[in-house]
Amino acid sequence: MKEDYPSFLTRESKPFDPIRLAHQTEEIISKGKSRKYTKFYCAGVYGGISTGYTIGCCLRCVFCWVDWSRDFPLKTGQFFAPQEVFENLVNNARKRGVNKIRVSGGEPTLCPEHLLSFLNHLDSTPFLFILETNGILFGHDPDYVKRLKKCRNIHVRVSLKAGSPEGFEKRTGARGEFYELPFKAVGYLNHAGISFHVAAMTDPRLMPHAERKMLLSKLESVGYQDYLEEEVCDPYSTAVKRLEKAGFKIIW
Ligand code: SF4
Repeated sequence: MKEDYPSFLTRESKPFDPIRLAHQTEEIISKGKSRKYTKFYCAGVYGGISTGYTIGCCLRCVFCWVDWSRDFPLKTGQFFAPQEVFENLVNNARKRGVNKIRVSGGEPTLCPEHLLSFLNHLDSTPFLFILETNGILFGHDPDYVKRLKKCRNIHVRVSLKAGSPEGFEKRTGARGEFYELPFKAVGYLNHAGISFHVAAMTDPRLMPHAERKMLLSKLESVGYQDYLEEEVCDPYSTAVKRLEKAGFKIIW
């Protein structure tokens, strides 16, 4: 592992550039159009969904539930081409009789050529792809959102982590100046007419009331007035450990 590759946050962690971390991570988790995954299975959420568990993220949220592959992507996973991911997900969906598909465990928008190529395969099927994203790369690159517009069968769920630069830096580890990127992503998705909704980690044990209000008004300023899915931090062992390492105290 490169020496400056950040893992989980500690009290001593220095804030990082999430775009740089996205590129650093892509170097580890991709080979050509292939990307690392650890497993393919069906989960009960969304009324049943065929899921590919991928590796790698450009944030280091203290409340993150995903396994340690997020922090140590070099150590685990196997490379899968877009066609192989497509076949695994669709075969599992057919076996279990579900009509939705997603990529979880890491940030699906890393490795754009992998994602877009996979979505291209999915276009000729009746399956709906739920794209769960932190919105960092979409907010950074409006052309990426435009390319997504060509895909049918897709619904995006943008998950906001903070409503202020300070909250963003404290809970994701990324520098506060980047906190607007997910809001920009919301604006670009809206403008492109892509089906999407917004979620936010507004758990009051993590986000102060005043910051939640800032988040709501920022969302309004980018033209979003629809449903907001408010998330709560669950006591997954990984989340509990990450919070503890970063010096957060939560009453479960
Ligand atoms: S919660 Fe999501 S965005 Fe945050 S580190 Fe985990 S996978 Fe990445």
